[in-house]
Amino acid sequence: MNYHILTLFPEMVTQGLSESILGRAAKKGLLSVNAVNIRDYTADRHKKVDDYPYGGGAGMLMQAQPVYDAWKTACEEIRSRQPEELRDKPVRTVYVTPQGAVFNQQMAKEFAKEEDLIFLCGHYEGIDERVLEETVTDYVSIGDYVLTGGELPAMVMIDAISRMVPGVLANGESGETESFEGDLLEYPQYSRPEEWHGRKVPEVLLSGHHGNVADWRTRESYKRTMARRPDLWEKFDLTQVHSRHDKKVLAQALEEFRQEQGSAAETEE
Ligand code: SAM
Repeated sequence: MNYHILTLFPEMVTQGLSESILGRAAKKGLLSVNAVNIRDYTADRHKKVDDYPYGGGAGMLMQAQPVYDAWKTACEEIRSRQPEELRDKPVRTVYVTPQGAVFNQQMAKEFAKEEDLIFLCGHYEGIDERVLEETVTDYVSIGDYVLTGGELPAMVMIDAISRMVPGVLANGESGETESFEGDLLEYPQYSRPEEWHGRKVPEVLLSGHHGNVADWRTRESYKRTMARRPDLWEKFDLTQVHSRHDKKVLAQALEEFRQEQGSAAETEE
């Protein structure tokens, strides 16, 4: 995966993405981060990249010309590596914007299939609409709030996407058992010591019985999703629970959840 990040603050993204798991993946050649400074492409002799919005209003807007030229250069570099048959396909270009679809794990998986991704980071009041119309394939937000710039959202997305790129996670399994897989949150996890501040690790996790551990994790995953993300639980497809055994695990989780909610309500009263 090759990321091309069009930004006015390239150091912010290169520094933020060079550590830990992503840094290691880059060293292994599994991904690359090319931060493109939009300012390097301005035709203005004072290196200006922004101007007042027509019609008035607060703040400044990033102008079309430098954004377009930075994007075009990134596209040309990508095209030069692509086989002939892909050259007509638009280069996937994500404008990170609060006006986009809200990013989620499904999107991370989908973007991870691309060979190259361009991220366009806005600043100030945003970017001249005309260049967005000519370049952007996806408008994506990280949530319903407004940040000062697109660098943090791009980094958030790149982090989540990279974990879905084969080989990036040391344990290939962990991406598939985590929260949001199958519309469920992950079960609680514990490490040593067995007892901390008087709190014991659930007995079943010490039992060495793999079947019981798996059932417990499934139940806890159901219950946690019901309690913390009822919106996700509503989306959970109950018809995918097929076998008699799995249905029993689900019924137990529902019963335990009901009881736990009941005792929590009693404690509050
Ligand atoms: N005037 C714009 C609006 O009302 O939609 C907001 C501009 S914001 C101050 C500057 C830049 O930050 C945006 O162009 C975008 O790239 C980025 N940004 C801000 N909030 C974001 C969010 N929730 N998700 C993704 N990008 C965001």
